[in-house]
Amino acid sequence: MTTSALIDPFGRKIDYLRISVTDRCDFRCTYCMDEEVSFLSREHILSLEEIVHVAKTFISMGTKRIRITGGEPLVRKNILWAIEQIANTQGLEELTITTNGSQLYKMSRDLLNAGVSRINISLDTLKAERFYALTRRDKFQQVIDGIETASKLPFKRLKINSVMLKNHNDDELFDLTQFALDHKMDISFIEEMPLGVITDHNRAATYLSSDDVIDSLGKYYELTPSTTTTSGPTRYYQVAGYEHKIGVISPHSHNFCDTCNRVRLTAEGRLLLCLGNDHSKDLKTVLRKHSYHATPLDSIDHNSDELESAIIDALALKPQKHYFNLEEAPQILRFMSATGG
Ligand code: SAM
Ligand code: SF4
Repeated sequence: MTTSALIDPFGRKIDYLRISVTDRCDFRCTYCMDEEVSFLSREHILSLEEIVHVAKTFISMGTKRIRITGGEPLVRKNILWAIEQIANTQGLEELTITTNGSQLYKMSRDLLNAGVSRINISLDTLKAERFYALTRRDKFQQVIDGIETASKLPFKRLKINSVMLKNHNDDELFDLTQFALDHKMDISFIEEMPLGVITDHNRAATYLSSDDVIDSLGKYYELTPSTTTTSGPTRYYQVAGYEHKIGVISPHSHNFCDTCNRVRLTAEGRLLLCLGNDHSKDLKTVLRKHSYHATPLDSIDHNSDELESAIIDALALKPQKHYFNLEEAPQILRFMSATGG
């Protein structure tokens, strides 16, 4: 069976897959997870071979872009092998990754050679002490070294992603922006989402809207809304005098569901149809139907048809919208790290 395009019940063409290759991480960002968090055991997460198989199946069904994420994708053993396999699959236009940057000082060149064209690097502060407070890890310099290394290589595009929390790091809006522009990178500011229960802070109190971000930055830069889209949810602004852009990701204030073209594969093999809802389809069971364990790549082709059917069935579950309310307890109990940001 081959299908040329995946269309959901609301007529949206789905051609972008995000894959969380692990729920594990070497950081513990306060807005993402608590210090003590339980991770999935090895047999419950998809093998790299299974991930590659799902990715190739999606590509055969019309997927043009894949983003590798996590948890921290670059801490997964042999991840470069999987990246190379996926990047070199005919039909894929772009393989990108989202990373916390901790491994870029030693992996940037290999990622480029493996076929990664764009990297989003998460960085919420330029102050070492604050970095420790936000990530609970002492790796600020390692991340900065990684950014410097990556920015000297010919990636198609590098972008900084910053989650903005009122009274935690919003005084660094200008410094983070200037850092990105000076390094010839774009930067996106993200509104915090109520994914998973965290104990560090009250999300309603730290909420900072994208409009406030743009108002503040408008005092320093001449900003013009840009028509650029990168198939993600970011709305971009052109910065006068600079080649690179400022973006905002606004899951609360500017719901981006109308143009949603994405689905997500979680580390445990659930196909998640929406970040803010729990509708999902268990693809791991389909993959392992004929074997109780993760199977090698060359012996899982026999159930491609079943996998394609499962993916098509799953799309029927894609909801029209997400609803987030910071005043209520989180409705979605999975963390962003388990979802694949
Ligand atoms: N570990 C990698 C990283 O941090 O880039 C990839 C996974 S992380 C879950 C992906 C993105 O989600 C990061 O930019 C992170 O800042 C963001 N994120 C995590 N939890 C979030 C939340 N509750 N609300 C908004 N963004 C969040
Ligand atoms: Fe790890 Fe990324 Fe979550 Fe931070 S945001 S704890 S780096 S998965």
